[in-house]
Amino acid sequence: MIDLHLHLDGSLSLDDFRYLAERNNVSLGDEFPKNVYVPEGCKSLEEYLTRFNLPCSLLQDEFSIAYAVHSLVNRLYKSGYIYAEIRFAPQLHTLKGMSQKDAVISACAGLREGLKDKVGFTANLILCCMRQADTDTNMETVILADEFKNNGVVAVDLAGPEKFHTGDFYTPLFDEAKARGVNIIIHAGEACGSEEVIRAVDLLHAKRIGHGVHLDLTRENIRKMTENRIYFEFCPTSNLQTTSLEDYSKVPLKEFDRVGIPVTINSDNMTVSNTDVLKEYRHLFKEFKLTKYEVQHLLQNSINAAFVNEQTKIMLRGELAKKIDNYYLKIIEQ
Ligand SMILES: [Zn+2]
Repeated sequence: MIDLHLHLDGSLSLDDFRYLAERNNVSLGDEFPKNVYVPEGCKSLEEYLTRFNLPCSLLQDEFSIAYAVHSLVNRLYKSGYIYAEIRFAPQLHTLKGMSQKDAVISACAGLREGLKDKVGFTANLILCCMRQADTDTNMETVILADEFKNNGVVAVDLAGPEKFHTGDFYTPLFDEAKARGVNIIIHAGEACGSEEVIRAVDLLHAKRIGHGVHLDLTRENIRKMTENRIYFEFCPTSNLQTTSLEDYSKVPLKEFDRVGIPVTINSDNMTVSNTDVLKEYRHLFKEFKLTKYEVQHLLQNSINAAFVNEQTKIMLRGELAKKIDNYYLKIIEQ
């Protein structure tokens, strides 16, 4: 499997929670582990995002960040993944005095350690700017994404409450990212509508859109997305939980495919959303009766969208060809 949209803080294992809470002297609360999953009856993205406070409170020092990345890489590898891009916002890990830069150095170290001796699997990091943060803080993240380009960081993203500011507010950041040759992803068209996806592409130079399920498939929008070769990172379960979509039947998978806009399937948050990419494919199989070739096509989209060099893509295509039968069996066995 491949996950291109995977948040570190939303994907700590329960063992990670226990270990890091004890080590860092943080209380997990009486409700643990219920309080690490999406709240029951969650009504919005804003409510969903409250679940990131506890894991973030555990990741405020160099060791914990490196540990969490290493642990996630190990879990993905053991589950038969071939590639992942793990994202996090370094600015959310500075509460106890760690700098954004030290957070990135630690994540890169955890990634390097985690990837040691793993054959047929690789992973990279994405740094998130936050919609609610000030421009200086976000600019620091953009500059770090450039500085650590050769150490496992492959892109910069914009995450957080989508309704906070419209995309035009962030143009200085992403003009700078573009000038530095940093790949850009924007969370858009999740809690807001089609216009935010258009701003992400027109104003913020996005190459990939996180979610984007609310894009109106007008002739003009289709042209814009296909001409700019924009890939979409769908995270179906997360969209249901934030009430961005009503149910799996509303995931616009076939609609996007029909007009030639490539879609990838991702988990968003393995723990907060209690999912993984295999489970996402199972939901979509149930709804759309996906064939093996359709699953393979979606995974090939993920390889094409991945921020890796051509040589790595060739390796990933080889691994996918070896594993697709097994993946499909796991999907249909439910
Ligand atoms: Zn996300």
